[in-house]
Amino acid sequence: MNARDIPPSAADAVIRPEIAAMHAYPVADAEGFIKLDTMENPYRLSPPLREELGRRLAEIEINRYPAPSYTRLKALIAEKLGVPAGFDVVVGNGSDEIITMLTTLVARPGACIVAPAPSFAMYPLAAKIAGVRYVAVDLKPDFTLDLPAMLATIERERPALTHVCFPNNPTGNAFAVADIEAILRAAPGLVVIDEAYQPFALDTWMPRLKDYPNLVVMRTVSKLGLAGIRLGYCSGAKPWTDGLEKVRPPYNLGVLHEAAGIFALEHYEVLALQAQLLRESRADLSAGLARIAGVEQFPSRANFILVRVPDSARAIAGLKARRILVKDVGKQHPLLANCLRISVSTPEENALLLAALAASV
Ligand code: PMP
Repeated sequence: MNARDIPPSAADAVIRPEIAAMHAYPVADAEGFIKLDTMENPYRLSPPLREELGRRLAEIEINRYPAPSYTRLKALIAEKLGVPAGFDVVVGNGSDEIITMLTTLVARPGACIVAPAPSFAMYPLAAKIAGVRYVAVDLKPDFTLDLPAMLATIERERPALTHVCFPNNPTGNAFAVADIEAILRAAPGLVVIDEAYQPFALDTWMPRLKDYPNLVVMRTVSKLGLAGIRLGYCSGAKPWTDGLEKVRPPYNLGVLHEAAGIFALEHYEVLALQAQLLRESRADLSAGLARIAGVEQFPSRANFILVRVPDSARAIAGLKARRILVKDVGKQHPLLANCLRISVSTPEENALLLAALAASV
């Protein structure tokens, strides 16, 4: 029998039914589109920096495995990205992998993970893949935390892990600090604050690791301009970072990614300047959206803006016809009906988006 001829029933008997029933994570084909659907930084490194990076990468011994301690990379993350002294850093192949590692870490029989909804899609996905029960607590219609409901759920479920996305994807707002403090005090397990959008909010919980032994702060360099190298990191008290090191695949960052991460962090000021440009563009994009009749926008602390239009299917079709890709989040949660999530981009791309949206609502 040829391997291609394995009858589907044989696979059905082996593959977990909840996995068989899933769809793979959808990623839109962006060929030929202005890509405003995944919150990338639209700016590249300058040509001289790219040449220098090329020379650096050419020297790498790709015949060797990476040294799994990633010492220089972690030291640069700690130094440039504000990890408090005395706290270790764990690196992931994107923070997606850190979410998987955190979920694996707590996946004891009967464990539960709690998070607000709508929030980042990978939290429930990772829980499902790990076979961990996931309890979502709806945000209020203005997308603030429903603190009494969160606290009641934490009391009832005693979650091993609570996710708090700060600022929240896909809503763009940052939850009230006092609400998050109440969650940190009430949670019996780990609380992970996901600061993927920290470069655009500037607020951070990183210095507060000292105050909360149950806190892990997770970030990524993806939104800073390095989405292609897949580098996320987190920090927290030693039992958490030690545990994560045990579930981390030993060589999870390839040598080229490691070297590119080191190079980019050595030029961190370039990335910080690009983030500042995007914060300025966010204000311009928001002002432009406010001028389009029928578009309701929600305040954003991130590098994207969530909008509600009268008919999201019509708007998406109109934008697609004009070769612009944004994320249709309308089906993700009832609170997001007819909502689109739009990345903040260059002034030129923002202007094209605004004109296309005005013609599509
Ligand atoms: N957390 C949040 C809130 C995100 O929006 C994203 C990416 N969209 C991630 C984590 C994952 O980022 P990455 O895997 O690129 O580091």
